[in-house]
Amino acid sequence: MHTIYLLLGSNESGRMAWLRNAIELLQQHCGEVTDRSAIYETAAWGLEDQPDFLNMALCLNTKLSPEELLQCTQSIEQQLGRQRTIKWGQRTLDIDILFYDKDIIDIPGLKVPHPYIQDRRFALVPLADIAPGFVHPQLHKTIAELLEICPDPLPVTKHS
Ligand code: ATP
Ligand code: CA
Ligand code: CA
Repeated sequence: MHTIYLLLGSNESGRMAWLRNAIELLQQHCGEVTDRSAIYETAAWGLEDQPDFLNMALCLNTKLSPEELLQCTQSIEQQLGRQRTIKWGQRTLDIDILFYDKDIIDIPGLKVPHPYIQDRRFALVPLADIAPGFVHPQLHKTIAELLEICPDPLPVTKHS
């Protein structure tokens, strides 16, 4: 069994429903969801002229290999109507693989740990809900420590 952390994001109308459906499909196809963060709202990062995002982090137990997991999460993005148009553009659902155990993976189409975790408050804040003491296997700092030194100025607020 492998322990993985995922970040879900959505900024199309019906954001809550996209997240809910994603969790349901992840449970059915990718593994057992063992923990979930609160849901947070953030202005778009990288490409700012688009609606605000909802984000949440999940912990899953899975038997899938990293490649199988990526295939599984991408097929869920497809099922939920994701169109890949412009880089960092608006989307119904984005599923990023943040961590896969403590593995360091760098193969075509898959980099784990996800390379921008430490630069994104919208990833660190939800992760800190469920894994504040998890040590980043390349940066050798906990999620709580990475959050403390994160330079990202975009505020992340709890979504009620
Ligand atoms: P970012 O990765 O900066 O958050 P994005 O999520 O908007 O950007 P996508 O269009 O969703 O980017 O994904 C582009 C490609 O990134 C995917 O086709 C996938 O193969 C690759 N990729 C590499 N590492 C990962 C990872 N850890 N999790 C998910 N996708 C990854
Ligand atoms: Ca992403
Ligand atoms: Ca992605």
